[in-house]
Amino acid sequence: MKIKKLGIMGGTFNPIHIGHLMIAEQSRKKFNLDKVIFIPTGSPPHKDEKQLANALDRYIMTILATSDNNNFMVSDIETNRYKTSYTVDTLELLSQKYKDSELFFITGADSILDIENWKNTNKLLNICTFIAATRPGYNVENVMAQIRKLEEKYNKKISYLTIAPVDISSTQIRKRIFEGETIKYMTPDPVINYIYNKNLYK
Ligand code: NAP
Repeated sequence: MKIKKLGIMGGTFNPIHIGHLMIAEQSRKKFNLDKVIFIPTGSPPHKDEKQLANALDRYIMTILATSDNNNFMVSDIETNRYKTSYTVDTLELLSQKYKDSELFFITGADSILDIENWKNTNKLLNICTFIAATRPGYNVENVMAQIRKLEEKYNKKISYLTIAPVDISSTQIRKRIFEGETIKYMTPDPVINYIYNKNLYK
């Protein structure tokens, strides 16, 4: 199948959960994306390494979470990289690999508002269209005003998606595991089984 529009869902996925899956699926439908490729980060520039499950575990959990959706794919492009992984380097590689496809990077609104602190903002916004996902509870007017400022400054369109509320975060899941609380329905069962079998986040 020819991929005309490719969604890219980058995340630390520590661990992946239904919030991530919902943003990817809802972006796919709204923007008519042919596929969404999930890219777990290897050594992310913005996270404290000590609290991270290792890259291979996060990659496997991402495969387990997405395997029942034919429109989802998972890439090890970042988990295979031993140096700090910057999104711009990943997007450059993907734009070479999928040179006939239009690329969309799906991310939370907080991340997009921080994009000027990422490596090579200008190039990032040139390689792909960003889709900023907000959840209810965000100050939408404030987020939109900041997005408009970025659009004007870089002369690039940033798309916008409000997703149904899912008050789940990876941090919350790790805390619940640590405290012996159930995480059933917060992430797919195969991910839960993997976490328990590998004794992660204890
Ligand atoms: P993450 O914590 O695993 O989350 C991935 C995305 O899912 C985030 O955008 C997050 O939005 C969103 N999300 C999580 N839970 C959600 C929920 N319940 N409902 C709706 N949205 C939810 O990943 P991350 O650490 O933020 O990293 C995101 C991407 O940005 C990665 O690809 C990373 O490499 C990239 N990044 C790159 C640089 C750089 O190149 N210098 C710097 C920073 C990040 P929220 O942010 O709103 O939680």
